[in-house]
Amino acid sequence: MITRENIRELSGFESQEGCALSFYYQPSTPKDKSHREELILVKDLVRNALREAEKNGKNGGARQDLEKILSMAEHLHGNGGRAKVVFASGKDNFWREYDLPPRLSETTLVLHRRFHLRPLTAIADVLPRLLIVVADKSKAHFFELWMDEIHEREKLTNELPRRGRSDGFAGYDAGHTERHVEHEAMHWYKRLAERMREFQESGYDRFLVGCRDENWPEFEPYMHPYVRQRFVGRFAIDPAGVTIGQVREAGEALYNEFRANRRAGLVREAVGGAQRNGRGAVGLRRVLQALETGEVQTLLLARNFAAPAVQCGNCGHIDSHSVKECAVCGRGTIELEDVSDALIRIAMRKGIEIIHIPDHPDLVKAGGVAAVLRFRADQNTEGKKAG
Ligand SMILES: [Zn+2]
Repeated sequence: MITRENIRELSGFESQEGCALSFYYQPSTPKDKSHREELILVKDLVRNALREAEKNGKNGGARQDLEKILSMAEHLHGNGGRAKVVFASGKDNFWREYDLPPRLSETTLVLHRRFHLRPLTAIADVLPRLLIVVADKSKAHFFELWMDEIHEREKLTNELPRRGRSDGFAGYDAGHTERHVEHEAMHWYKRLAERMREFQESGYDRFLVGCRDENWPEFEPYMHPYVRQRFVGRFAIDPAGVTIGQVREAGEALYNEFRANRRAGLVREAVGGAQRNGRGAVGLRRVLQALETGEVQTLLLARNFAAPAVQCGNCGHIDSHSVKECAVCGRGTIELEDVSDALIRIAMRKGIEIIHIPDHPDLVKAGGVAAVLRFRADQNTEGKKAG
């Protein structure tokens, strides 16, 4: 399973010889293609990559990796319906492979100085870790939903103290018992809320709760403000007898809705903010500038965004104009066929959230790239302080 740390490692990798190989394999459904045809496609990709590499005189390190990809492809047989990605650079003894949800747009192979990360980050908006708590008054299950895999992390049981002895005094004691039960419920949900807070501290990004309608008002008030900020929502479910598959389905549905709303909100914020001279930036030139000044909080990329640019080989400055010399340090620049991967790398390095937006006319109109800003460098000095 790939982690965010893995992606960060990949984003920092560089092969001076241009032998960083990125291979993305998207299994086809049996009805559109046979596995044999898939293999032919991979062979074509490998052949083209080899030809390109030889043309640019950088075949030394790449040939071995490409042969490994070929022999792997022969054994994939659809990979059990999962996508596969490989990042390799034989010269540097580097080989990483991961299985992913089958949500890639295509099978591709790229040889470059750096790894091609965009399809990977597009799969899950840089992979938020979701925690789903399914609870009633006696039990709670904590699930982690990550990409399309769900695992139970923990189970808690509410050990109700035996109340046998006081049962005989029901007439006398009923009010007391009721208060006692209420108190216990409060204690229990408080404990669950505290546990959620601990999960949040250990790196979970989003939280969901599944419970019966009547239990939610008892649970909800105890949620920690930090968890609340990251709260996706609550879905109605009866924890007694529920299957892990049902939890996943309900959790995914709620999260997808949340994500769609959030994406639309972020585009509004970025585009609207840019129009009002507020906390938004649109267009490649302005977004690049905002990335360099540390203003960016969230980077938004439209699915079809692609643009050429040049990058300084010395200081890393990116220019949307095709200039030979770096505007910052004066050294030579390298042409980038598409700037997307470079933007993603900067965002990964700086811990900036990256959101891929499938279809949004306002974002497309804004040039396909935009950002929500933490502040504006031209309006206050927070940037200088933070930088
Ligand atoms: Zn430079």
